Amino acid sequence: MQYIDVSDVKDHIRKIQEFKLGSDVAKYMNSLYPGWLWDAGSKYDPDLKCYQDNWDAVCNYLKSTKKLILLVRKVVHRDDTDIHNYTILSTALNVLTKHGYSVRVKTDLDICDSQGCNTVIFHPSAREMMIKDCKPRKFKSKCAECN
Ligand SMILES: [Zn+2]
Repeated sequence: MQYIDVSDVKDHIRKIQEFKLGSDVAKYMNSLYPGWLWDAGSKYDPDLKCYQDNWDAVCNYLKSTKKLILLVRKVVHRDDTDIHNYTILSTALNVLTKHGYSVRVKTDLDICDSQGCNTVIFHPSAREMMIKDCKPRKFKSKCAECN
């Protein structure tokens, strides 16, 4: 199992909670779990309006400023049965959320193909994972603006 807790859990959690910048949390996590962080984007394609709405709502609720979307290789959810193996990861996800980051698993998503564009788009493999009211018009490798 990748991304499970490593030794000295308490130390890592304390460090993660003390970082002033989310980017430092992301860097720290990627050094603990090389390859965890895959890519980052600045906004969601209109096809992913539900993701954008969710991010807006969370930031609004936490009174945080929107920073970046992080595409990572693993996230955990509060109701996962094996959540106790992922204390460090779940702490980092909470802290990043508070810092204004939207953290999503890369398998659902991709970054627009156009050079210099960092809009997050649906990955074709997300076909089955699509959630209600968030259906892309069609699968493509570029965002709506670059298409
Ligand atoms: Zn684009």
